[in-house]
Amino acid sequence: MFINRSAKNNLVNQALIKESNLKTLFNLIHNREPVFRAELAGLTDLSPTTISSLVDELIQRNFVISKGTSNTKSPGRKPIMLEINAKGAYIAAFGWGRSGLKYFLYDLKCNVVEHSIIAINGLDSFAKTIYDTITNTTFRKIAKRKLLAVCISIPGLIDSSNHILESYVLGLKENKYVIAELMELFPSTPIIIGNESVFYTYAEKEFGCSKNVNNLFYANISDGVGAGMILNGKIYKGGTGMAGEFGHNTIDMNGPECECGSHGCLENYISLPSIVNMYSQHAQNMLLPPANNIDEVFVAYANNNPAAVETIRKVAQILACALCNVINLLNIDRVVIGGGMRNFGQPFLDELDKYMRPRAEHNKIIKRCPITFSTLDQSAPCLGAVKYFLDNIMKISVDLEKNLFLY
Ligand SMILES: [Zn+2]
Repeated sequence: MFINRSAKNNLVNQALIKESNLKTLFNLIHNREPVFRAELAGLTDLSPTTISSLVDELIQRNFVISKGTSNTKSPGRKPIMLEINAKGAYIAAFGWGRSGLKYFLYDLKCNVVEHSIIAINGLDSFAKTIYDTITNTTFRKIAKRKLLAVCISIPGLIDSSNHILESYVLGLKENKYVIAELMELFPSTPIIIGNESVFYTYAEKEFGCSKNVNNLFYANISDGVGAGMILNGKIYKGGTGMAGEFGHNTIDMNGPECECGSHGCLENYISLPSIVNMYSQHAQNMLLPPANNIDEVFVAYANNNPAAVETIRKVAQILACALCNVINLLNIDRVVIGGGMRNFGQPFLDELDKYMRPRAEHNKIIKRCPITFSTLDQSAPCLGAVKYFLDNIMKISVDLEKNLFLY
């Protein structure tokens, strides 16, 4: 049968509208389950008939299941509740760190159904390790077609225009091969790779104490100092996807040279290794033993060791200055601090507050911006990546236009 161009365009448009409606319903069910059809009609502009037909399709595609009836007291037949079908599909997520790979397999409800820690023998074997893990363990439990995507979080920068990875922590220098090899090994599975701070931030927004915060700044303070930002409700990635280099804000233009080429960068004062060095200098001046690692500084601070107290006072002063710059520049609604820095506990936040409060007295933007620790655990970047995929990338009834997504 001959179909003219305008009829063909019409069919394409109808398919796209249907996909958009299916995805809207999927997201609503994911975020509000259990729900019933009439509730969905109230939350969208769609007619009850359209909702019913789209929900049937979601059920038929195994993304949604009907389960039990509502407890509503209204007379008549009780409506059937809809839920996401946890076992309908799965997403693999890998958190790449200095000590190897953390692997989590998530079901469609974002529950972890498989977890392991995997060593990596050099950068050359990275993509192959991911491929082998999925092939040898995951595909023995679930059918290949049920794996929707592979998500990878890295503590580094991703040049999304040129497919280049850069990470001081992982020893990646202008690395083009990891992404190329992953694409070769997974030619038809969507691959999502992003900076761990970006995914931490999304997890914080979706699962942490920052739900419904539209302008969120997440400072990830560990071996390095990174940040993720949600601005106007959306992840902010910048021109080439490399925004968030909080650690390379200049704190002292006459300070020591940083590996980024600049001088006096924040990271050289408040990253955990820098805190160990600062502590050891104070300890030496006070005729106390130096610290061998950050755990010793955590213990010393908890015990009110004077070198630790002085170190953390200085760190809080510097961080307050850096955070005020960010809050003023972007009118941030909330700051969340994550990473190993959380081990200094509430006394650190109290110390930080001492340096924020005088500024807040004269500045409403700072006064209205609470600063808290993240309450999420180390799996948060993987969880954030998976939820980001489900919310923003996954399609229900049409194919994705590409299978590589970089953040
Ligand atoms: Zn720097």
